[in-house]
Amino acid sequence: MIIIDGSEGEGGGQVLRYACALSLLTGEPFTIENIRGGREKPGLMRQHVTAIEAACVIGAAECSGLAVGSSSIVFRPGRVTPGDYHFAVGTAGSTGLVLQTILVPLMLAVAPSRIVIEGGTHAMAAPPFEFIERTLLPVINRMGPTVSTRLVRHGFFPRGGGRIEVEIDPAPLRAIACVERGALRRVGATAILAGIPFDVGERELKMAAKTLADWPPEAFVTRQLPAEQGPGNALLIEAEFDHVTEVMSAFGKIGIPAERLAKTAAGRMGGYLACEAFAGPYLQDQLLLPFAMAGGGVFSTVKPSQHTLTAAALIERFTGVRFAIAPREDGVIMVETAAR
Ligand code: ATP
Repeated sequence: MIIIDGSEGEGGGQVLRYACALSLLTGEPFTIENIRGGREKPGLMRQHVTAIEAACVIGAAECSGLAVGSSSIVFRPGRVTPGDYHFAVGTAGSTGLVLQTILVPLMLAVAPSRIVIEGGTHAMAAPPFEFIERTLLPVINRMGPTVSTRLVRHGFFPRGGGRIEVEIDPAPLRAIACVERGALRRVGATAILAGIPFDVGERELKMAAKTLADWPPEAFVTRQLPAEQGPGNALLIEAEFDHVTEVMSAFGKIGIPAERLAKTAAGRMGGYLACEAFAGPYLQDQLLLPFAMAGGGVFSTVKPSQHTLTAAALIERFTGVRFAIAPREDGVIMVETAAR
């Protein structure tokens, strides 16, 4: 039984999701205390409960203590069974983070799966749909499995109501090198609006264009969704290279000026473009689990996040796989999967 202190390291929900995935992958039970102890409102939130429930369903796992507000659970994994599954968060909690919990176990299962997840698709502090589709899954697919996803309906905070579908065709994971991003092929910034005044999008794009001053005017577009999918607003800033696509995002929130969120997202993209790294600040922690299960591989990235350092330590506890994380001469960080 692995014992985890959920307040250590990053101290949020990610350690829970990766612990469930690792437990299903290794057969090792775990208990976690002080769940989300590093957050202002600790304990399980609705979206974490759904993610753990999803892990229980696909992995015939038993979990005690699973309830909104709970600060500890005990998780005992069973056998992962591929199939057709439907999970609903019930709030705007992230569909992408539910997927993060079950993706790797299902892509190493013995048969394909088809998953429907309902909840938020474009909400703060989680990967938006486009990041999963264009940034994460192309790397996963290079490793062996075939995973495709479809956005059926957008879901924004606080209403949710979004829906994604994911098809997973498993295959053994092979170790790959993701070091060079290659040449820049395409850039774009899209302000998505659902039931939000048009000028909000225009203000976001104007600010983004100021920061990304060498991007052509036609790269900045507004996309209006049916008002009934809102209210909601997301800004997606995308740079497609030969070998990787980075998607930076920001999400409209009452009380935060459109200009401020656009400046943050565009600034992040500017920072990514200014270096040579393959993986940006969010892809890095999301690559660790597949790379660990591949038993090898290397990727280049930006400064390691707390999420990355926490995930690396957790992966080592469950699997014995270690990551060597060290800067290259030009400052780019290399993350290398070391042998067990
Ligand atoms: P908590 O509420 O405890 O912070 P959480 O469960 O909502 O927890 P985190 O523990 O912070 O979330 O984990 C967030 C995950 O979402 C990480 O894997 C991170 O890489 C990813 N993520 C966050 N923001 C983005 C983004 N803008 N684009 C892509 N991925 C993101």
